[in-house]
Parts: sequence; structure tokens; C-alpha cells
Amino acid sequence: MLVLRDIVKKFNGIKVIKNLNLEIKGGLNFIVGPSGSGKSTLLKIMGGIDRDYEGEVFFRDRSIKSFRKSQLDSYYYNSVGFIFQNFKLIDHLSVEDNIKSILELENIDENEMNKRVHNILKRLGLEKFAKKKVSILSGGQKQRVAIARALVKDPEIIIADEPTGALDKKTSNMIMDVLKKIAKERTVIIVTHDKSLVTEDSNCFLLKDGVIERINEPLKTKVSKEKKKIIKPNLTTKMAMKQGIKNLKGLFLKFVLTGLILMISSYFLLLNFSGTVVDKNSEILNKLISERGDNLRDLDLVTNMVSGVSDKGEKGGSLDIEQDVSKAFDRFKNDKRVEFIIPIVSMQDMKVKLDGKEYDVLNSNTVPVVNNVVAGRMPNLGGREVAISKKFMEKLNLNSEDVLGKVISIDGGSFDWSSGSPKEVKMEINNLKVVGILDTKYSVDSKLYSDQEMELEDSFLYSLDVVKEIKNKSNSNTDNLSFRIRVKEIKDIMPIVEELEKEGLTPIGEFETVKDILKISDVSKDQTDSVSVIISSIAIIVTILITFINVYIRKSEFAILRINGYSKRSVSKLCIVEYIIISIFATISLIVLFPFINSISKSIFAMEITGENIGVLGALIVTALGLSMGIISGSILANLKIEKNLLVGDR
Ligand code: ADP
Ligand code: MG
Repeated sequence: MLVLRDIVKKFNGIKVIKNLNLEIKGGLNFIVGPSGSGKSTLLKIMGGIDRDYEGEVFFRDRSIKSFRKSQLDSYYYNSVGFIFQNFKLIDHLSVEDNIKSILELENIDENEMNKRVHNILKRLGLEKFAKKKVSILSGGQKQRVAIARALVKDPEIIIADEPTGALDKKTSNMIMDVLKKIAKERTVIIVTHDKSLVTEDSNCFLLKDGVIERINEPLKTKVSKEKKKIIKPNLTTKMAMKQGIKNLKGLFLKFVLTGLILMISSYFLLLNFSGTVVDKNSEILNKLISERGDNLRDLDLVTNMVSGVSDKGEKGGSLDIEQDVSKAFDRFKNDKRVEFIIPIVSMQDMKVKLDGKEYDVLNSNTVPVVNNVVAGRMPNLGGREVAISKKFMEKLNLNSEDVLGKVISIDGGSFDWSSGSPKEVKMEINNLKVVGILDTKYSVDSKLYSDQEMELEDSFLYSLDVVKEIKNKSNSNTDNLSFRIRVKEIKDIMPIVEELEKEGLTPIGEFETVKDILKISDVSKDQTDSVSVIISSIAIIVTILITFINVYIRKSEFAILRINGYSKRSVSKLCIVEYIIISIFATISLIVLFPFINSISKSIFAMEITGENIGVLGALIVTALGLSMGIISGSILANLKIEKNLLVGDR
């Protein structure tokens, strides 16, 4: 059955087994020897667990050493069944599930599986323990479960390493009786240091100092029959699911913990990926910007300004500008970054005629300032429309609803610059439809004025045609008109300023303030980014850690599966299936607990996740992370050195 030829096994250069020759025949075989004599080492060699030795082991004339992976898996399933001193059962599974975990490799239907499990349990007197967790059983009961698990594969050889080593005398005898019975129909090899277990009708070998010293062969040795049906052990996906769910139930708390860690890690990764982090700093900044006024987002391109100090210009700076802005006007009409574009013109000494009454408008001597539209809308470029200031409207003693849609005329003056010095030209502009009411509050943060807020009465905005008419009447160029654009987002201002400056144009706006705000905002964004990078890194580290802890906890469990015929693929598959189930749990938890986690994250890290499709992205991240955990653990557990992770015998 098993023939060992010239076996030499060294540990760290020291020979533990020295040129050993041995032939194991059918029936009951004992290998006895003192502790440390190399019995377990020899068993591992015979069982194909350790294949790193000199010499050859032949099983039915085939060298175990030369087995390919699948042949070795088949050897583990069909040829050998191991029994260990410390049972090596899977503690979190029930008695029957311990056995089924092996039988599942045959991919038989539920009924046949149950029948075979029932038969084997009955044979070992374990029927009433079928549903019990093995951890609550006594030593003798556990060893009987281990024997049942070895027998259910119907292997040709049973290899038992100190099977009674952890049992009392009475229980030992019971187990020995069981093994002797088994030896009637198949080869049984029992290794023990306890010579009293040896029976006379058995083969007995004494292992001493690495060689077989004495051989005691009985007169008649049984030849054990060859296994009829060779099984190709394979864990189907369906069986992997069954097994995975059993493991999840058995290791419930560990899996819940893993799932929660997966969920939390995914949340923090989502924080990083989603790009929708809202932090307190940027909330404060947004508030600052809006308090400062929407005209912070304005950028004026004026056609000329002679040694003037612009209220909207650089603080205290003087400007000498004469430029053609008409091309820029045409271009920005269609720019996506622009919220609105409007020609600007200022008139002085205005009188507004409405419903036959005339109202004076207070002069500000400054270009129109607009914070925002409080009612109606901005004038269209086409048509004869006007938006008037709220401050002025209040003079009319009318509500904005009453003013909107009214047609007004304006008497006023505009400067004619054609002679080089300004000359005021009086004019009357008729037939203007009021389409909007403007908030013209103007907060001045100038050293000249100390902080104060003004509200301009004469800040009116007009349609393009109206501005052209005013310019025409004051002998000014109607093709090159000063205009203002307001960008949608403050961050778009500086790039536009740069573009314009490259073209030789000088835009006017509160660019220093904008730069300051953007700087603060960048710093805050950097801080937020680095915090979320740190948190995500911690999340990934914790995830990797829990993955490795799980691998560590379960490596002996998977080593047991491996020596019972689980292929590397089957082990990986089982791991991945388990992590897929955990990922599903983690996804559901994430979705259910999302608002709760968000509020905790907001209060601790000042960050939260907002936005659409977060659920989908979250599920994707959980799945990707969970799958990676499964693949990593699967490949580690599948490639573990079995002999290192299966502490055999008394070691
Ligand atoms: P037995 O089972 O007969 O008590 P073992 O086969 O477990 O003996 O061990 C035989 C000798 O080999 C001992 O001296 C032990 O220390 C040594 N040994 C066994 N396994 C290893 C190992 N993995 N690494 C180093 N030495 C080992
Ligand atoms: Mg041993």
C-alpha cells in the first residue's frame, strides 16, 4: 500500500529521519517510538503533507513526490484520512457540518449527503450530537467526530497521530476499538508513544533515532481493497455558498465586525472619492463671500478711464485706460463661466418719469454697482429694458410688483469725451420697460472709507440698444462699450483676468480680495484633503489588518480543509464567497446607517458626504474593497504551507 524508500528528513541540517525504509500493508499498523523520535514527521511524509525530503514514498507504486496539485488533492480526498491528537475539528461548526464541509467536495445532492452523514454518525454513535457545536463535546466525542470526518471520504488509509493522546484511559480504549474495527476493512496507521496500545495481531514498527529498529509482523496481514470510485474533489460555487453561510453563522460576531469595518472603511474612502466633502471651513468661506456681496464676482472692462480712481478698482490705485473691449464682449456673451454680461453706462442728474410724475435720482458719481436682482430679472441685451435700484424704487412708494412692467422715461446727462475733457450732454431716453429691481448695496472695505455700507440710488442697468442710444447722444463710440461680466464661481475670476491681460486688456474688479479668499479656501481645501487622505489611509490599513487577522485566525481551519482535499481554488472560492456575503451585509448597513454615520463624521471630522448616486458609488466601493479582501485572504490561505499551519500531534 505504502512503500517508503531511503527517506531522509532534515530540520535545520539535523537529520530527524535517517535513511528509513518501510512498507505499510493493509490492516492495523502501529508506529511507536519515544517522543521526539520523528513519528509525526514520518506521518506527514506518508500523508503527503510534507513533500520536502530525500527518498521516495510510493502509494500503490506511484511516487507521492511526483504528484501534480490535482493529484495531491485527490490523494488527500481518496487515499488518506487524518486523525490528530487534538482533533483538528472546525469549532464553529456543528458535528454534521464538520463532516459536510468535506463531503461537499463530492457535489452530491442534499439527500444523499444527509444520508451519508447520518450513516457515518450512526456508526460512531454520534447521531444525537449531529446538530451540536463540536466545541461543547467531550474529547472522546470530538475524536469520534474526527474519525467520522476522515471516514466519510472513504479513504484507503487512515493516518492517526497519537489519536488517544488527549484522552483518558477509558475513552482511549473506546477510540482504539473504533480504529481496530476500521482496520478490518482498510489500512490504519496509528502513531503513538504509548506501547500499551499495540495489539498483537497488528504490524508494529519501532521508530528510534530516525530509523525503524524493530519490525513485528503478524502472521497474516490483510490486503486492503482498492477504492472503487475515485472522486475528483471540487467545491462548486453552490457548495461554497452553503459552506460560506455556515461559516458566517458560526463566526457571526467576527463577520459582523469585519462587515462593519468594511462599511466604515468604505464610507471614508467614499469621502475621498466622491469629491463632495463639505467641511466647516468652506461653509464659513461661502458665508464670507456672500456677506461680502455678489459683486465680488464682477469683472468690468471699461473703454476708457483717465487718471481716475475707480471705486471698483485696486484700492487707492489710479488707472489710465483706453482699450477696445468689443471683441471681449462678443466672446463672453457665450462663455459658460459667465452668469450675466451687461453693458454699463452712468448718467447723472437723472429724473425718472413714471405715470406722469417725475422723481429725482440721487447722484453717486460712480459706475453702477449691483449686488443682485431682488425682483424681476436683468435686462436682456436686446429690447428697451431697464433694471432700477431698489433704493430708488422705494421713493416711488410702489411695490416691486407694481413697478415691474411699467414703462418709464429718464432725463439725465452723460459725458461727451470726444474733445478730450468731459462735457455733459443732456438727453431724454424714452420708452424703457422696467424688468428688474436691483439690490445696489455696496460694502466698501477701503482704507479711505472705513467699513461701511452704501446703497446706490442711480445704479441702473440697460439693454444694449439703450446704452448705444445714450452713447450716441453723447457723441461716444457705440461699437466699443464698457461692460461687466459676473462669473458663476469665484474661482473663475483669476483665469479670466489672466486671459484678458494676455490680450493686453485691463479688467477692473476686486481681485486682491478674490485672491485672498481663494488662498484661504485653498488652504482649507488642502487641510480637508489631507485629513480625508489620512482617514482613508487609516481605513485601508484597518481593513488590511482585519483581513490579516481573519486569515491568521482561520489558517489552521483552512489547512484542515486542504488536507481533506480542498484545492487551492476551492479555498480561494470559499474565501471570496464569504467576503461577497460580508460585502452585501456591509452595503446594506452602509445604506441604512448612512445618515447616522454622516452625522458622526460631521461632528468628529467636520466632513460629510453629500450628492447624488452616493448609494451606487458606496456599493461599488464596498464591493471592490470586500472583493479585494476576499481575493487577498483567499490567495494567502490557499497558498499557506500546510505543514507549518497544521500543528500536528504533540507539537
Ligand atoms: P514525535 O512526533 O515522534 O514526537 P516529531 O516528528 O514531532 O516527533 O519531531 C521529531 C524531531 O524533529 C523533534 O526533535 C522535533 O523537534 C523536530 N521537528 C519536528 N518538526 C520540526 C520543524 N518543523 N522544525 C524543526 N524541527 C522540527
Ligand atoms: Mg508527534
